[in-house]
Amino acid sequence: MTQELHIVGGGMAGSEAAWQAAELGVPVVIHEMRPHVGTFAHRTGDLAEMVCSNSFRSDDDERNAVGLLHWEMRAANGLLMAMAETNRLPAGGALAVDRDAFSAAVTAKLRAHPLVRVEPGEITALPEDGHWIIATGPLTSGTLAEAIRAETGAESLAFFDAIAPIVYAESVDMSVAWMQSRYDKGETAEEQTAYMNCPMTKAEYEAFIDALLAAEKTEFHEGETAGYFDGCLPIEVMAERGRETLRFGPMKPVGLTNAHDPQVKPYAVVQLRRDNKLGTLYNIVGFQTKMKYGAQAAVFKMIPGLQEASFARLGGIHRNTFLNSPTLLDDRMRLRSRPHIRFAGQVTGVEGYVESAAMGLLAGRMAAAEILGRDLPPPPADTATGALITHITGGAEAKTFQPMNVNFGLFPPIDAKGGRRGRKDRYKAYTDRAKEAFSQWLADQS
Ligand SMILES: Cc1cc2nc3c(=O)[nH]c(=O)nc-3n(C[C@H](O)[C@H](O)[C@H](O)COP(=O)(O)OP(=O)(O)OC[C@H]3O[C@@H](n4cnc5c(N)ncnc54)[C@H](O)[C@@H]3O)c2cc1C
Repeated sequence: MTQELHIVGGGMAGSEAAWQAAELGVPVVIHEMRPHVGTFAHRTGDLAEMVCSNSFRSDDDERNAVGLLHWEMRAANGLLMAMAETNRLPAGGALAVDRDAFSAAVTAKLRAHPLVRVEPGEITALPEDGHWIIATGPLTSGTLAEAIRAETGAESLAFFDAIAPIVYAESVDMSVAWMQSRYDKGETAEEQTAYMNCPMTKAEYEAFIDALLAAEKTEFHEGETAGYFDGCLPIEVMAERGRETLRFGPMKPVGLTNAHDPQVKPYAVVQLRRDNKLGTLYNIVGFQTKMKYGAQAAVFKMIPGLQEASFARLGGIHRNTFLNSPTLLDDRMRLRSRPHIRFAGQVTGVEGYVESAAMGLLAGRMAAAEILGRDLPPPPADTATGALITHITGGAEAKTFQPMNVNFGLFPPIDAKGGRRGRKDRYKAYTDRAKEAFSQWLADQS
């Protein structure tokens, strides 16, 4: 008899993982703690509950990375995309759904599947044997989180994200910014020039502080705040503590010489640090923030060199349990120290409903393949699913790892030699390439 796959958590990732494995002929048990044990964000006992927005974001599979992820999940017999389609609401180019009908439909489909069993109850310890996927999400229950922490070490499991905005490297104006590490630190030329630096005059700094203080901020959800002040103060809170605080903190100008104007000492400097091995993404160092998204884009574009910046993701601070996946997981999503346990969903350090479901899809297929005596390699890095798994299990910088949503900056650059293409054409080229590679990856499994 085929061995069972146990999945802890029936959220976005767990539901999709269960469907994928069951459709491949593997019996699945979903362990879901709700409704007996709740979280501050979930309201129901249904599977795949959407805790906040009712949107799966852009459905444009030609020019948008999340839309491409929709396409790949549809191509791979994705349950969540199918149920989203059935319960779709008009929302322009976005895939928005009737949230209750959507999760009821996912729940009904899984409960009706002959190979799926839902076992209510909280899992509180790491399993010793068997085949397991842990997909307990950003609000993983406290006891299980402690058990994971005991296995991985305290530094490798975070309870909050503190996300600084990430910009596409190509969108930074390098006639204003320059590459240099503070005090030229580092052994190699690459290390000595690891940061992008954006200089500010006194007037620019003062205007920036005014804008920060005036910007609209997002409130924490009720029950979300415990422990958040541990070393991740939002920049606007730093600015509230004193107009000079940032200039003595993340924006200090010391140890840096403006390559474009060496005689003039900048009054403040904003530094950007490389965020992925490809070098396509840079995060703004120390700029975690609770400003609303619209306000962030406006305020950050005041930084000289970032006037035309494109953001791969904006900043945020949330209650979020997630692993340091680049150090803990292998490329089959297995915990290196206990390979019979896979992780999937937001707890692996992806961000968002769609990304979490995509990681569930992959984990479900990989676990099923293993149970059936096969090996399933991850999809190529030039697909959306492949770009995400490559990022979280190796492409991201482990030291500064923070959750990531899907974006074209994670994809190997396209058209390195050819002429300059317009951004829209380039995105189309990314999605064309991805669709071909993903179709091949699926075909190789049949
Ligand atoms: C307050 C809040 C708002 C958010 N808003 C959005 C948004 O608007 N858009 C968006 O794309 N993303 C949003 N997210 C992120 C969102 O939670 C994830 O994108 C997505 O739900 C993650 O999917 P997941 O399957 O990893 O986790 P979840 O969907 O949270 O599923 C995890 C499941 O595991 C269960 N569980 C936890 N611990 C245990 C245990 N020990 N034993 C058994 N079961 C357990 C939980 O009950 C839950 O059902 C938000 C997150 C939070 C916390």
